[in-house]
Amino acid sequence: MASEEHGAACRNHTQVAVVGGGLAGLALAERLQQAGFDFQLFEARERLGGRVESVTCMGVGFDLGPAWFWSTQPRMAGLCDRLGLAVFEQYSTGDLLFEDTQRQVQRGRGYASMEGSLRIEGGAGALTDVLASRLPEQKVHLQAPVRRVFANGQLTLDDGSCWHADRIVLALPPRVAAELHFEPALGASERRLLADTPTWMAGVAKFLAVYDEPFWRQEGLSGDVMSRSGPLMEIHDATPRSGGPGALFGFYGVPAHIRRDHPDELVAATQAQLERLFGSQARAPVQTFLRDWAVAPETATEADQIPPTQHPTYGLPHSLTGAWEGRLLFGASEMAGVNGGYMEGALEQAEAITRVLLEAYSDG
Ligand SMILES: Cc1cc2nc3c(=O)[nH]c(=O)nc-3n(C[C@H](O)[C@H](O)[C@H](O)COP(=O)(O)OP(=O)(O)OC[C@H]3O[C@@H](n4cnc5c(N)ncnc54)[C@H](O)[C@@H]3O)c2cc1C
Repeated sequence: MASEEHGAACRNHTQVAVVGGGLAGLALAERLQQAGFDFQLFEARERLGGRVESVTCMGVGFDLGPAWFWSTQPRMAGLCDRLGLAVFEQYSTGDLLFEDTQRQVQRGRGYASMEGSLRIEGGAGALTDVLASRLPEQKVHLQAPVRRVFANGQLTLDDGSCWHADRIVLALPPRVAAELHFEPALGASERRLLADTPTWMAGVAKFLAVYDEPFWRQEGLSGDVMSRSGPLMEIHDATPRSGGPGALFGFYGVPAHIRRDHPDELVAATQAQLERLFGSQARAPVQTFLRDWAVAPETATEADQIPPTQHPTYGLPHSLTGAWEGRLLFGASEMAGVNGGYMEGALEQAEAITRVLLEAYSDG
């Protein structure tokens, strides 16, 4: 369909269409709201937050997505402070456990890998919840996946509805953005740039076990584990600041296709591993959660099924700057130059895009 034809049928108008209601899209929308912009936010899922997701168990929020930020990331600290969210340090007191390939468990002191990391009371989801609560409901569209974007500023949703925007901000993982239908098509090299940018942590899965109390602390264990036998390769204490209920979470070392094909075996092996490491008390969690991000099409593409082994170099490629005469902007964390891939990067990019929009509108 030609974009002009589409324009004739499209009656909804806004200054800025924010596509994606993860931390980057929400932080941007909150800034736009404060600055008096007219905007609409479109989110594919039935919930906001994107990769940020906290679940509630025994009245406490636990993270199935990101949990940490660091003292070198001022935007996260500043935003938590402004929104009245308390932060606290990752628990790291006590011995670490190391499990070798023969499932032999060694206990020792050493550098807790996440010592000094900061967590948000109530989970990272508290941050996206508060941001969302500051947006007018009628400007936030859930279960509203955008499928097509047009150079004249139009976008169409899955249900066929259409909006026209002066500016479109794709606050989507770049690989997910690359799968949209662009009219006219992006240049082959621009599309490749998006498709070649790994989405940070998109290929991983997280397991969380909640217990009545953090019993391992009484045994002098920090909850930190490095394992060569798995299925979890890295485990940490996820207990809230109040000290209870207790919780442990871990990242899998098992490839995505095996996780997908053998879910029951995976959970059984995980529970056996926790018991091997932490003893019989680990046998009876109050509740467990498994979130496999690799199977979520709003986060992970086929290319994300094998995660990068190191943190990639991120940033907005030069050729994507000023796309479609400045109408099309790229707003996800992976487009941030300094903290790309992290929650801080989502805020960095929201800040950068707000600056671009303020400049554009101050010029008329
Ligand atoms: C398991 C895990 C652990 C992590 N740990 C950490 C950590 O400890 N510290 C840290 O800083 N970072 C961590 N990260 C990374 C962090 O989650 C991201 O940097 C951050 O959440 C990115 O936010 P975003 O808004 O840029 O992207 P996303 O959160 O991916 O948001 C994109 C949004 O777009 C929506 N969407 C997708 N397609 C469409 C469409 N067609 N139309 C409309 N909406 C669409 C999605 O549903 C989603 O809500 C972790 C991530 C995961 C998965």
